[in-house]
Amino acid sequence: MATVNPLKRRGLLFVLSSPSGAGKSTIARMILESDDGIGLSVSATTRPIRPGEVDGVDYHFVSNEEFDQLVADGRFLEWANVFGHRYGTLKSEVVKQIENGRDVLLDIDWQGTQQLKQVDPDIVRVFILPPSMQELDRRLRTRNTDSDEVIERRMSRAAVEISHWAEYDYVFINDDAEHCRKLVHTVLKAERLKATRRIFLHDFVRTLIG
Ligand code: 5GP
Repeated sequence: MATVNPLKRRGLLFVLSSPSGAGKSTIARMILESDDGIGLSVSATTRPIRPGEVDGVDYHFVSNEEFDQLVADGRFLEWANVFGHRYGTLKSEVVKQIENGRDVLLDIDWQGTQQLKQVDPDIVRVFILPPSMQELDRRLRTRNTDSDEVIERRMSRAAVEISHWAEYDYVFINDDAEHCRKLVHTVLKAERLKATRRIFLHDFVRTLIG
């Protein structure tokens, strides 16, 4: 039998976008916990740290000056201004994992997704929609104690994010987190099997037909 390494394949960049409150973080967490082959890209941000968040785990929290320096040094694959704060994907976060043969999950907005598609046309883009705007409003209200004004601002931001849904390869409605997780995971598993990513096939077919 031919000696090929069936595991050898190109790691993929797996983008998950949604308006906040649509359940994206829960689904991302479920996938990261249940699949050893994918790791999270921890973004850098200028947004202040929230209670419960851990620097280096949820984000790399940096000052405006530090962010400027990272931009000047060409350290980002993409970066964007998202509702008043800057967020960016560090090359080091992605390269480190791809080199170890892992896929990378990126929780980034539509602006970052557009930029990343230019850098790597092979990315997989998944968008999560809320079942309704009423449900999104309910989720945003139960999640925190923000004022009506803050909630309204979040809802109009959600509408902007949702308006980019058609730029994605796969779009799911999250009316049940476990069902939605299964769909997203199915996409990940199928994308891994694409012939163009399984580069060992070139060597294998050469052993078949020379
Ligand atoms: P939050 O501040 O609630 O954690 O995130 C706000 C938004 O920023 C989310 O839609 C999230 O997907 C997006 N975001 C987080 N990290 C990045 C990043 O590195 N690049 C881009 N473009 N967006 C990001």
